[in-house]
This record gives sequence, C-alpha cells and structure tokens, in this order.
Amino acid sequence: MQRLLAGNDRLLANKTLHAQSLESIRQHAESQAPYAQVFGCADSRVPVEAIFDEDFGDVFVTRTAGNVLSEPTIGTIEYGVAALKTPLIVVLGHQNCGAVKAAVDAMKDPSKTPAGALGALVSALVPAAREVEDRGADIYSAALEAHIRKTVETLQTSPVVSSAVAAGTLRVVGASYDLATAKVTLYR
Ligand SMILES: [Zn+2]
Repeated sequence: MQRLLAGNDRLLANKTLHAQSLESIRQHAESQAPYAQVFGCADSRVPVEAIFDEDFGDVFVTRTAGNVLSEPTIGTIEYGVAALKTPLIVVLGHQNCGAVKAAVDAMKDPSKTPAGALGALVSALVPAAREVEDRGADIYSAALEAHIRKTVETLQTSPVVSSAVAAGTLRVVGASYDLATAKVTLYR
C-alpha cells in the first residue's frame, strides 16, 4: 500500500518515474510477479498504472464500470491471489463515477434504469445508493463509498480471498480517486 501511495504522491508532485520503455516490457516477457492488485472502474480517466506511477508487471489490474463484480471478475481477482500471490487488493472507486450517478438516478426513478446488460450493471449499484438515500448533496460520493465498502466485503466472501486474509498473507482495502486532483484516498 505504501508503494502504491508513494507512486500516487509522485504523480501529485509531477515527478513520475515510469515512462514506458521497450526494455522494461522485455524484462517482464517471461513471467509476472505483480506486488498488488487493483480493482478499478473502466472510466478512461482512471488508468491504474498511471495513477500509481507503476510499470508493466507491477500491478494486476481488473476494471469494470462502477467497480461492479461478477463471477468471472471475482475469478480474475482470485487468480491474482491464488496464482500470483498478490498480498494486497485495492478496490479503487472514483469520484464523479458515471455508473454510480446512474444508480442514484435509477434509485430515485426506476424508469431511468437502462435496458439489458447495462441495466444489470446499474442495478448492481442501486443497493449502495439506497443505503445513503437520505444524504443530501453528497449522495454520489456517499453512494460510491458505500459501494466500495460493500465490494471489499463481497470480495472477502470468496474462499480464496478469505483464506488468504485469514492466513495474514492478503489485505483488501477500499479507496477513492479524485478525477480533478489525481489524489487517492483510502477508506479507513
Ligand atoms: Zn466510474
């Protein structure tokens, strides 16, 4: 976690180290040993390696819109734990997330729920929105936090994840990224 946050600090200080190079790509061609996993949002403004100033081979990244889990996505993260032995999973949401906003809007007016698979994605976020429906102007930020905390909990219902956590070889934490400042803040 310290290494990730140090990378984010370099970004904030405009002192990033990791321009991508063919040399480092070749170094990682034979195998991977990422030191952390990040489960982020698909939003194009939240590129995980850039946010943490990391390089090829450093971080095992899974991204879906609104950090919504599905079984194959949990399987991806389980692979990171079981095969790659990553000691950390960061569930990284971000402020002003369009998927979270869509869920808050759908909670207030169910007719706004999109059809089909996109509707299923938005519906997966509605319970978090409902949890904070009495919040005023900061409902989007509160819904994001509620959803990220739920996602951290859901991941720990995976036997692969929970057994590694119980063994003390894995931590799962939630965090939020601010699109305007580039700062990552942990949910404690
Ligand atoms: Zn998003």
